[in-house]
Amino acid sequence: MGQAVVQLEGIEKDYPSGDGALTVLRKVDLCIERGDFVGIVGASGSGKSTLMNILGCLDRPTRGRYVLDGQDVSRLDDDQLSRVRNQSIGFVFQSFNLIAQFSVLENVEVPLFYSRVPRRERRERAQAVVASVGLSHRVSHLPAQLSGGECQRVAIARALVTEPALLLTDEPTGNLDSKNGEKVLRLFGELHESGRTLVMVTHNPDIARRLPRVVEMKDGRMGEKLYEEATA
Ligand code: ADP
Ligand code: MG
Repeated sequence: MGQAVVQLEGIEKDYPSGDGALTVLRKVDLCIERGDFVGIVGASGSGKSTLMNILGCLDRPTRGRYVLDGQDVSRLDDDQLSRVRNQSIGFVFQSFNLIAQFSVLENVEVPLFYSRVPRRERRERAQAVVASVGLSHRVSHLPAQLSGGECQRVAIARALVTEPALLLTDEPTGNLDSKNGEKVLRLFGELHESGRTLVMVTHNPDIARRLPRVVEMKDGRMGEKLYEEATA
């Protein structure tokens, strides 16, 4: 019996619109087991960001049930949701969102600061996770002194430092050249191999077809996406 990190049951999302409501997610069911690596693809406007916002506890579904790491988070209020976000979710975006005046180490410490981890433990945990993404030689650098690929690895370290149950990433290589993008993808592959649970939104079919499992959004509905084997 697997241990689901994510269980979505009949998730729907409405946005208010001129004459009533616009339904942008329809009957979405999804189960993500611990250690899964799931890609999300779909045309622009198909509902990927709306789904990621719900998965990341940035927003609530209008209908349906979301159980995250054993906790029903479907109807939590904003304060409760932000606590769940801080404890259980790591985010990596296309733009790295690092604090320019903070060193690499300080950037990685930020989520621990919010969860009131004592200073010394913050420093030790940040150092360990910075080392795990291969940036020990850059701890005192400022973001402006790093390449884009290095910045994204700092962002990944920051997302991992709280030991989240779920790592969510939206187009993580979107701002990187192909060489740096490849390094970042390889890092996600290593995280998967070490047992992390990952969800990645991507527009890039070459990236998606390398992932173990991909779901596709179409007009707010979700389906499994199957790739044919490449023919020579
Ligand atoms: P994607 O990320 O796949 O491009 P989105 O989830 O951003 O798709 O959007 C899905 C649909 O929901 C689109 O039609 C979009 O216009 C609409 N939408 C997204 N956010 C809002 C909002 N805050 N209010 C109203 N409509 C929205
Ligand atoms: Mg989007």
